[in-house]
Amino acid sequence: MNRYLCTNCGFWQHYFTTPRGCPVCEDVRHSPPETGYHFLTPEQAQREVRTVWQQVGLDLLLFRNEPAIGINPCGYLLLHPEGNIAFESVPWYDELVLAQITALGGVRWWAASHPHTYGGAWQLQQQFNPEMCVQRDDLSWTSSFSVTWPFDDELELVPGVRLLHTGGHFAGHSVLYHEERRALFAGDLLKLHFQDGEVRGLSCHKGFNRRIPLTPAEINRYRRVLTPLDIREVFTSFDHGPQLDRADVLYMLNIRLTSRPSTEPLPLRARSVGR
Ligand SMILES: [Zn+2]
Ligand SMILES: [Zn+2]
Repeated sequence: MNRYLCTNCGFWQHYFTTPRGCPVCEDVRHSPPETGYHFLTPEQAQREVRTVWQQVGLDLLLFRNEPAIGINPCGYLLLHPEGNIAFESVPWYDELVLAQITALGGVRWWAASHPHTYGGAWQLQQQFNPEMCVQRDDLSWTSSFSVTWPFDDELELVPGVRLLHTGGHFAGHSVLYHEERRALFAGDLLKLHFQDGEVRGLSCHKGFNRRIPLTPAEINRYRRVLTPLDIREVFTSFDHGPQLDRADVLYMLNIRLTSRPSTEPLPLRARSVGR
């Protein structure tokens, strides 16, 4: 058995030979590569992929891969006195970044919003043996690592840091809310649309590539989960929206409930008109 990284999406498979396909790419929420699959073994990834990081405030590290792999998700590491939390994962953690994480105290909890950001979760499990937390409806996607803490609607990792099941984009899609930072780690619940380096629009989707919208019940569930949260900052699976707040997010979700299903971005500046 070896591990194989799909360069089209960043998903790892644990398999006896080079896989013929990738379940994430062939799922309706993604697209297979037009010119055929290419997989990296861990040895190839170690040679070809670097992991870079930046600090966002005192207690948060944001990781990315260079060159970008697949859909190029971020990974986050929340530093906490009761144990660090890795939320979302880059497809590859190189040796330098693993040493950096070790120096910062390792990882006590690992979780991700959904399978598009499982990335190199198995590497963190091998290195740090954290609790691996996955919402029960997404268990079938976790064959590259071993889940140790399946959860239902909500799981508090450390005081003030909670995983909340939202469903929608994936059946088990979950967000992480950090009460002290008033930060929502929104996964793929939100897509941020940038112009000149600023967030100018917001959208939500079941499948981004094929522009598949969510149903009203799915959007209503997003609203129910997010409404009680004081949100002043958003980190999605891909981007940071430092100024986004709960009103921005609820405005977009409310408009989506009163119009035909759509994945089109809603301009943020329209918010003041709608309030
Ligand atoms: Zn793939
Ligand atoms: Zn996704």
